[in-house]
Amino acid sequence: MANEIRTKYGHTAKDIAQDFAEQLKYTLDADTYHVDDQAKYQAAVLAIRDRIIHQWDLSRKTQRAKSAKRVYYLSLEFLMGRAMTNNIINLGIEKQVKDAFASLGYQFEELADIEPDAGLGNGGLGRLAACFLDSLATLELPAYGYGIRYNYGIFKQQIRNGWQAELPDNWLENGNPWEVKRPSIVYPVYFGGEVKVIRENGKDIYKWVPAEQVNGMAYDTPIIGYGGKTINTLRLWSAMSPAEFSFQEFNSGDYTEAVRNKINAENISQVLYPNDTLYMGKELRLKQQYFFVACSVADIVRRFKRNPNYNWKNFPNEAAIQLNDTHPSITVPELMRVLIDLEGLEWDEAWDITVKTLGYTNHTLMPEALEKWSVPMLGSILPRHLQIIYEINHRFLQKAVAFFPFQNDKIAKVSIIEESNPKMIRMANLSIIGTHSTNGVAALHSELLKTSMFPEFNQIYPERFNNKTNGITQRRWLLDANPLLAKKITEVIGDGWITDFSQIANLKSYADDAAFREDFNKIKRSAKETAAAFLKKDCGIIVDPSTLFDVQVKRIHEYKRQLMNIFNVILIYSRMKEDKAYRESFPPTTFLFGGKAAPGYVNAKLIIKFINNVAAVINSDPQVNKSLQVFFMPNYRVTMAEKVIPATNISEQISTAGLEASGTGNMKFMINGALTMGTLDGANVEIQEEAGAENCFIFGHTEDEITALKNNGYNPMDWVNKDAEIKKAVDLVTSGHFNVSEPNIFEPLLRSLFEYGDKYCIFADLRMYNDMHNKATDLYKNNIDEWNKKAIINIASSSKFSSDRTILEYANEIWKVKKCPVKKSKTDSALEDAKNN
Ligand SMILES: *Cc1c(COP(=O)(O)O)cnc(C)c1O
Repeated sequence: MANEIRTKYGHTAKDIAQDFAEQLKYTLDADTYHVDDQAKYQAAVLAIRDRIIHQWDLSRKTQRAKSAKRVYYLSLEFLMGRAMTNNIINLGIEKQVKDAFASLGYQFEELADIEPDAGLGNGGLGRLAACFLDSLATLELPAYGYGIRYNYGIFKQQIRNGWQAELPDNWLENGNPWEVKRPSIVYPVYFGGEVKVIRENGKDIYKWVPAEQVNGMAYDTPIIGYGGKTINTLRLWSAMSPAEFSFQEFNSGDYTEAVRNKINAENISQVLYPNDTLYMGKELRLKQQYFFVACSVADIVRRFKRNPNYNWKNFPNEAAIQLNDTHPSITVPELMRVLIDLEGLEWDEAWDITVKTLGYTNHTLMPEALEKWSVPMLGSILPRHLQIIYEINHRFLQKAVAFFPFQNDKIAKVSIIEESNPKMIRMANLSIIGTHSTNGVAALHSELLKTSMFPEFNQIYPERFNNKTNGITQRRWLLDANPLLAKKITEVIGDGWITDFSQIANLKSYADDAAFREDFNKIKRSAKETAAAFLKKDCGIIVDPSTLFDVQVKRIHEYKRQLMNIFNVILIYSRMKEDKAYRESFPPTTFLFGGKAAPGYVNAKLIIKFINNVAAVINSDPQVNKSLQVFFMPNYRVTMAEKVIPATNISEQISTAGLEASGTGNMKFMINGALTMGTLDGANVEIQEEAGAENCFIFGHTEDEITALKNNGYNPMDWVNKDAEIKKAVDLVTSGHFNVSEPNIFEPLLRSLFEYGDKYCIFADLRMYNDMHNKATDLYKNNIDEWNKKAIINIASSSKFSSDRTILEYANEIWKVKKCPVKKSKTDSALEDAKNN
């Protein structure tokens, strides 16, 4: 008997094969005649999920029993990628699972390949949230991620004749076997209507009478800490039409109106907005933000009030809520509303609790990314919240006047309300005022927040500003993505680095070990072969693994300067065409580009087209294409990053200094032994500090110099005209060499450079970039051993960039949360559980 009820817990290959077979037969009813790969994949996930459920439940129970303070990470984006390999690695059953499938004659990798990426994010911000969840669980911190269960994630990118085309990402098409639907966890969310004021016992009571209701239902995904002890939850909300609301219309016979309303309600969680670092004032977006904030706050409050002796004063000791950018910043007035209108607290007490509970992370210095909602729009969707925001602002400005007497310009800057027409609500100002912590995501960025973006707030609240340099999880980005390198590292320094990345420093001495460098070289070559096979299958691109891989993968944005990269390629190309010695000495190189452009961002889409046209000319030119190849890899996403980054030699991190808040792609490349070709921007500054300047290729104007350059009237043509090589490359482009049969298509790009003043200073940095790039290719060609040494030193110097370090800083300095160890369960008796529940 005891053995039977434990079958789901068994971790041997045989137990897993048995469970898989049962899932295939009984859950999916697959038989010899109709079993397809999709069914096998679903059965595989369900068999693995069976090994998660018990410990997941135990994690919740332990955290509850110990009344542990919990972290709530509110994010409109979670760019998770695939879960399968990551989960079995973290559970510690990778070998058993692979053996189980092998024993049945299945290839594990083929099943794993069926999983669609969970692409519920645009880029770095969403991926950061995913890395943080991994670190939180591994560090045994009690945490929930809260977000939206979009039916459609980030669009799939196709390239047609060089142009980006967007296709819907129907990632839930075949269901999502990792998630658990929680039909009993549903919260109503209200919109519109009006606020009534009632006088009761000499006190004004505000009663929001909304016009519209939408329900949010919870879907939970397990987040498995490495070692499988703590299993936390990513809780995503899905919008549903409330039955009660449509009833009236159904009864009054207006059936189609009722159905239309139902569809309207469910629109809210339909699709992720595909803009990265570009704010768009869409009403549906504001509704998404409030929808997930309202559900999450209600869920947090419900959990708090489960304790019959709850006392609101203790709320900040039991919950730390972090706002990932301003996207969830409506949390500030929502928590105030709940505390005052629903719980009956006084303003001052509610405000004290709100500020103590909330923290805010700023992610960008780009003015066009700052969220502002028009007062009329916000007021019509959330009338009570608008009132509360005005009251917050009123009280804050009284304080601000004391700091800035007779300085109305400064008062106007810190006000939550921008006095434009229409008036706008500045969500960053609301976030700084309504939280106890505002952090930037790299040292330089956090400095610029204080000195350049929010100097007045820094005067009022100096203690609130702090830095938390971003990080990435070494479990996904090294252990999982680069198994051969991970194995080699473990062979020489042990496996402690997997959960304590400071130990990666022990690799440093191996940079001087010739045999280790040779092994590293072979592993890099093997990763290139893996990447080449992936690219061939994924998008039909044929790359040569014997070449140097130079890679720029990230969202396409003018500030990230993919255009400067392709201009450097053109410099190399045109010099090759004219200079035989250069042509013959240049180490065969493959330039790889990847990234999505926001569908409405004309110049970004044109940059993609330009890269593709340059690639077509170069790749078909027999005089250069033996040593120069250029590709744009369609549909860059987490799964592609996992294949391409381990194969990279040169990591392109070339944003205009002062504009990339941190970057995390730069860190993924570093821990995989690529050398950074980069500007002193974001976390590149810290990468250089850690690795040493001699192990990086840093070039270009610094942030100060860019500012000075612009203040002194930057003119790109001056820089072009004084450099004959650059002049020639520009002339080649303007002559239409790369668009012979498509006249003038690049005009908007050329105008942005030469008519509108090259806002991102490409031509101020291009000479330094090309020189540094030549230095890099020379070294690669002439002394690969020295190159490998630098690569190994980079890996050994990357400990700072683990998201474990980042999360420990957040936990100790902002959240004040401690770890809550969960005992790893040895038994898993469903019958016992059933009796106890
Ligand atoms: C890491 C990552 C990013 C962020 O890259 P940056 O170079 O920091 O902009 C974007 N997209 C994906 C898929 C990633 O994995």
